[in-house]
Amino acid sequence: MQNTLHPIQIKQCPFCGGTEFVYGYQAGYGAIMRDQSLLAAGQALRYIICRNCGSVVHSYVDNPEKLLKRSNRKR
Ligand SMILES: [Zn+2]
Repeated sequence: MQNTLHPIQIKQCPFCGGTEFVYGYQAGYGAIMRDQSLLAAGQALRYIICRNCGSVVHSYVDNPEKLLKRSNRKR
C-alpha cells in the first residue's frame, strides 16, 4: 500500500533493512495537539512502521500547516 499523498517515500528500514512497511495512524484519544492551540484538533499522527522489526520509521501529520497559529495561516 502506497501513501501517494505523502512526499516522503521510505525505501528501507534504517534499523533492520526491511523493505515492507505498514501505514498506520493514531487519532482520537491519541491525536496530536499543538501546544497553546486547539486549531490542530483532529490532526491524526500518522506512522510508517517496518513490518519486519516493528520500528516506527517515520511519523508525520497530514496537514502540518494547520499547526500554525491563526495569524500565520493562509486560509
Ligand atoms: Zn525494521
